[in-house]
Amino acid sequence: MPNLFEPPPPPVVQIIGSTAAFPVHRIYCVGRNYAEHAKEMGAPVDREQPTFFMKPADAIVTGDRDVPYPPGTTNLHHEVELVVALHSGGSAIAASDALSHVHGYAVGLDLTRRDLQAAAKAKGLPWDTAKGFDASAPISAIAPAAAIGHPSIGELWLEVGGERRQHADVGDMIFAVPEIIAALSLLYTLAAGDLIYTGTPSGVGPLRRGDTFRAGFAGHVTLEGRIV
Ligand code: MN
Repeated sequence: MPNLFEPPPPPVVQIIGSTAAFPVHRIYCVGRNYAEHAKEMGAPVDREQPTFFMKPADAIVTGDRDVPYPPGTTNLHHEVELVVALHSGGSAIAASDALSHVHGYAVGLDLTRRDLQAAAKAKGLPWDTAKGFDASAPISAIAPAAAIGHPSIGELWLEVGGERRQHADVGDMIFAVPEIIAALSLLYTLAAGDLIYTGTPSGVGPLRRGDTFRAGFAGHVTLEGRIV
């Protein structure tokens, strides 16, 4: 049966050193994965179970393109995060096997309508409009694990207008990458093309139209852009 209309092509992320692109299947995100960030949000630290939410796959912004300031908010926040890219998946994945599913690592921004998130939290409502909006997931090219290994430590940083806003070591994550994949795979069937934004350290703050940003992870990947 023919499709009623032509579906859009899958969103893709560049892979460093490769002519093949990474087609995105789903975007999972981890909340409250650094103790200092949980503290600045006034949220408890849960060391039993990671908090997950999702963004649409076509929320990615690649190639250091401009990021449109989203409608419906007056308090857009940056959250710099290590992003994990999976080339295979499954369910009930053991933490000891989890890294075999990881193709590589990128740096990304989990852009957040903080005002809508605060309102949702206050009313006990879902976060979707605060997190899963258009262009809410800028991402760098992916550095393949074949080239850089599976770094369990390394500096994650973000500058806005040349000023350092966030920096931390990914070794400070409450749930490390293997534990995140294992926990997520008990809730969803993971698949090739899935991206996981692993949570932000402290120092989140507002972005305004005209702001330029630069983010990086351990000299492996860099993301640049501008809010327009
Ligand atoms: Mn986040």
